[in-house]
Amino acid sequence: MAIPRLFLDAPLAPGAALAVADAQARYLATVLRLGAGAEVRVFNGVDGEWRAEISSVTKKGVTLALVDQTRPQISPPDLMLVFAPVKRHGTDLLVEKATELGVRVLQPVITRRTNAERVRTDRLRSIVIEAAEQTERLDLPDVREPLALARALDGWDGRRILFADEAGDARPLAEVARVLDDAPLALLTGPEGGFDPEERRLLRALPFVTPVSLGPRILRAETAVIAGLAVIQATWGDWS
Ligand code: SAM
Repeated sequence: MAIPRLFLDAPLAPGAALAVADAQARYLATVLRLGAGAEVRVFNGVDGEWRAEISSVTKKGVTLALVDQTRPQISPPDLMLVFAPVKRHGTDLLVEKATELGVRVLQPVITRRTNAERVRTDRLRSIVIEAAEQTERLDLPDVREPLALARALDGWDGRRILFADEAGDARPLAEVARVLDDAPLALLTGPEGGFDPEERRLLRALPFVTPVSLGPRILRAETAVIAGLAVIQATWGDWS
């Protein structure tokens, strides 16, 4: 059985005793049926990954004793996903996959054709924690509150946006990403109904936006996120 990994929002240092409660304690004690002496890996997004041992299991929760650091803190490349939310399952899926694919920031944007019900960022945050634990990341993506597309672009930090434009006549993503330097990057994907012509015109007029194609077929939004991030990590990011 793989050694369980937990994200704990607490400082990690030799000899520290950490209290684990609620769902995480239940996972260790009830689901995995671990007892005193069992090994657990913990990370907090800042201090790398640490080996810990269960020192006690009680009704109140589980206590861990930190032993030593197993991996120093490293961050994935500075890649942001700017995405129009889609129906709940699709958004849950794309958030989980974007976490596995190493994005650092998840920025939901509301576009004219976005018809997703309210974006539950608390729900998305618990999805990224679970995905980060499973994918052995040492950090958690930052899940931001949704913004209107125009508002997100207004205060833009200037990083290059690779705009997944399904309207065609854009250069292939791999060709564009392969020649970019390692400056911060963003991928932008639209909702089920795509971007409307006015949004497309606005985006294509911005100097920091590069339209890119994900091939000759129209992909579902969540597929576009997964495929787009995979191509970016393989050509620009940390897969090489
Ligand atoms: N407007 C599309 C249509 O004609 O049905 C639907 C949009 S598609 C379901 C959702 C999003 O995925 C698009 O807004 C775009 O960001 C991205 N996407 C899908 N296929 C793509 C492609 N072949 N090239 C670039 N982006 C694509």
